[in-house]
Amino acid sequence: MSYYTCPICGSELGVTEYRENYYVVEEYRKCCQCNYFYEFAYGFYQIHFGNDDFCWNYRTTGNEMAILFTKLKRREFMARRNWHKGIRRKYKVEVE
Ligand SMILES: [Zn+2]
Repeated sequence: MSYYTCPICGSELGVTEYRENYYVVEEYRKCCQCNYFYEFAYGFYQIHFGNDDFCWNYRTTGNEMAILFTKLKRREFMARRNWHKGIRRKYKVEVE
């Protein structure tokens, strides 16, 4: 079983894999803290976090991938920042 950390909040992701003839045909990675979700199933990929959904598949071209991943990284950065801001705010409410 692989080990992954959440790109948004840094928690350990729960990973579920399904194999056929030793090949991973489906994989799900889920974060219980911030609801980050990664799914791979038979050549189709999906990443979800916050209000964002990113989908691609084995037919997506290199150029499309580059555009998508640039946007993904930017949204991940924003989500990470918002997540940590949210924690600070929550913490502040608790100590008041
Ligand atoms: Zn997370």
